[in-house]
Amino acid sequence: MSVRVRADLDSLPAYVAGRTVPGSTKLASNEVSRGPLPSVVEAVTHAAHGVHRYPDMGATELVDSLAKHLDVATERIAVGCGSVALCQQIVQALCSPGDEVVFPWRSFEAYPILTRVAGANEVRVPLTEDHELDPDALADAITDNTRVVFVCTPNNPTATTLHERQLEEFLSRVPSDVLVVLDEAYREFVDDPQAPDGVEFTRRWDNVACLRTFSKAYGLAGLRVGYAIAPPHVAEALRKVYIPFSVNAVAQAAAVASLEAGDELERRCAEVVSERTRVRDQLLELGYRVPPTQANFVWLPLGERTGAFNEHCLNNRVVIRAFPGDGARVTVGTPEENDILLSAAASFSG
Ligand SMILES: *Cc1c(COP(=O)(O)O)cnc(C)c1O
Repeated sequence: MSVRVRADLDSLPAYVAGRTVPGSTKLASNEVSRGPLPSVVEAVTHAAHGVHRYPDMGATELVDSLAKHLDVATERIAVGCGSVALCQQIVQALCSPGDEVVFPWRSFEAYPILTRVAGANEVRVPLTEDHELDPDALADAITDNTRVVFVCTPNNPTATTLHERQLEEFLSRVPSDVLVVLDEAYREFVDDPQAPDGVEFTRRWDNVACLRTFSKAYGLAGLRVGYAIAPPHVAEALRKVYIPFSVNAVAQAAAVASLEAGDELERRCAEVVSERTRVRDQLLELGYRVPPTQANFVWLPLGERTGAFNEHCLNNRVVIRAFPGDGARVTVGTPEENDILLSAAASFSG
């Protein structure tokens, strides 16, 4: 007899990480190309001298700094080993086996995996034909068994954002004992004035949490740190299911330094925003369909041609993220990287 592993794990979809191909341009994982902010590298170096000690379990300095920057009480803040860990903590803390987690689909590929690992049931709600979240359909999908609804805005991988008014209307239809999680991994790249600010929504709604991360705009994907702003008893529950010390000391120091570097961050996001406009406009000109984007990536709904487009990009030394049969997600990089992508896109005839 061999050791028995949960049989249902065999049916779990695997999380597909963006590939790194030496010699190729990687536009597959929505990272920022320019590396961490210089002031943050300094903080990382400094923190490295202290790694023989366990990290601060409560991430006190980071939590205090977040509280100050966002003007929220520390009791409403929980940190996690990337915001993907916080997604898992939320499901773990709120769902018992058989409870339902509702999310849009296609959306962040971790949602179905971590829902099923927790023993909860996933309820996928199709996007609209315009690749946008469908708030009415999300509200319709809520049942007495629903404990959590993930609302990814801007949505990964389609890059579209909900508008504030749509979110208000949606929330007015959600029972007050169901947690709505606004996953705002790309919030720093948003420039649509009608887009919601998740932190503001957490002030006005007692059943809303907002997730943010240092992985994307701040350039700390390799260090793994994110945070949730949530009602105090939810934040407390998230801390209870937190794996002890999982946000390491270097990550905590880097996150604190990142919050101090607001001007640098803004300049950097502005470059990404202007490049995404250029990339999208040129792709449209080349005849591609490209939904409006509020993130640091574009979505190409290529359907059955997605695999061929992916191959073509690989042959042209660009790594993108393909969702076979559905579409391709392409990260906006530096102007030089984007030019490589655009020339590959121009020579694609599949
Ligand atoms: C990238 C991403 C995350 C998580 O990033 P972490 O690196 O775990 O902080 C969460 N949600 C969405 C939608 C993402 O795209």
